Amino acid sequence: MSWLDKLQHQSRQLRHRALDRHVRLGVTGLSGAGKTAFITSLVHQLTQGDSPQNLPFFGVVQQGRYLGGRLAAEQALTIPRFPFEHNLSFLQQQQPQWPPSTTGWSQLSLALRYKAGQGLRSHLQSYSELELDIVDYPGEWLLDLPLLQLDYQQWCEFSWQLFAKPHRQALAAEFKHLLVDTDLTDASESQLQALTDAYKKLLQQFSSTAGTYLNQPGRLLVPGELAGAPMLQLVPLLPEQLAEHTALTSKLTSHYQSYRDYVVKPFYKQHFSQLDRQVVLVDCLSALNAGAAATEELSQALQLIMQSFNYGPSSLLRRLFKPQISKVLFAASKADHVTPEQHQALTLLLQNLLRQPLKQTTYQLAKTEAMALAALSASQTGYIEQSGQKQVCLSGIDSESGNKISLFPGDVPAEVPDDTVFASHKFSFPSFLPLSLAANANLPHIRMDHALQFLLGDKLR
Ligand code: GDP
Repeated sequence: MSWLDKLQHQSRQLRHRALDRHVRLGVTGLSGAGKTAFITSLVHQLTQGDSPQNLPFFGVVQQGRYLGGRLAAEQALTIPRFPFEHNLSFLQQQQPQWPPSTTGWSQLSLALRYKAGQGLRSHLQSYSELELDIVDYPGEWLLDLPLLQLDYQQWCEFSWQLFAKPHRQALAAEFKHLLVDTDLTDASESQLQALTDAYKKLLQQFSSTAGTYLNQPGRLLVPGELAGAPMLQLVPLLPEQLAEHTALTSKLTSHYQSYRDYVVKPFYKQHFSQLDRQVVLVDCLSALNAGAAATEELSQALQLIMQSFNYGPSSLLRRLFKPQISKVLFAASKADHVTPEQHQALTLLLQNLLRQPLKQTTYQLAKTEAMALAALSASQTGYIEQSGQKQVCLSGIDSESGNKISLFPGDVPAEVPDDTVFASHKFSFPSFLPLSLAANANLPHIRMDHALQFLLGDKLR
């Protein structure tokens, strides 16, 4: 694209933004929450699945005013493109597989055509167009926001309190020994890199252990374009090592400050503050499967993520970055892992984890909603006879054995269960492989139409 095309592209975007014809939708969630599946499904529903039978609660489709969506001819130049076609090909294989999760961030732009339902435009124009940018970024990066309010010492204290929890202690032991044996007067490059490598390995071990969510700093785990940058040489020393001022403590303190100034703040300033709408995906069921400590930690991580959407007039976020997100959807993902009558409990559980009754309320300035959904439903609901009684069940392809299974996955607690429940009951919600699709079939989903209506309905009137 020449500089002239680029300039024209930018000015068209600005014009559309000014005319309210442009929406930037952020999609986030912690690793494995379902971002890749959600965006793949969202794009497919908007470009190919736009029938009233498939999206009955998406007003513009239901009213017959949706004229279709397509991938925009011009995509963002500075952000990796979300690999929609590649992901779709995994789902359309003869033996479908889940597409690989994206790391770092990516974007895909769509042009949505519709007939305006009201106002002057409905009389004057044959169609209107909305530009939709979908921006995928790791929820881990939002976990860095609280770092702006902690100094290096406080961050070290926070980290080591966390690493003392039962589900983390054993993994953290080796790194702790390494720190205890570390010469604090040595702030050489090789020492810093060795410590960083060890800490990064620990973060990776944490993140591949079911039920650990709070892994900071986010960019050490998911560096995106910053891989190898010196300020990512950052580890939490043991709080007692900070009692004295040493070469290593001062080096790490300065890297911590650079990380906040050159990584966290620019992310919020340049990217987060450009978003208009946001989806936060939460995999509540895997946390329940992983037990009490995991569920508690998920709730703690969500509280921190929520801070990014708290724009009260006195909030740090508002003072620093002036965010403009007007709607936030908190979605309990993979609702197809439980039977339909459990969806309400799943939504309540999500609200309980967020410690916010979100339904139809205004959380500070952004309007929020919570719902249970499946971007790509991989199960079918049926009934089995048990002692003469009809019992609801799910059937799907078990992701571990590859065999077809039918089961009742169990009740979802509507509140975070206490430790005694976890001690006496092991949650074991299943996971399924995607179902085979007929050629040109819609992607089966649960409540993606509700999500679309909440996120875009008002922009397509
Ligand atoms: P990301 O790391 O947030 O991008 O997560 P992905 O979208 O890659 O999802 C991680 C895994 O969760 C997938 O590989 C699937 O196994 C599962 N998953 C995600 N969305 C759904 C869904 O809607 N239904 C089901 N059954 N599984 C899902």
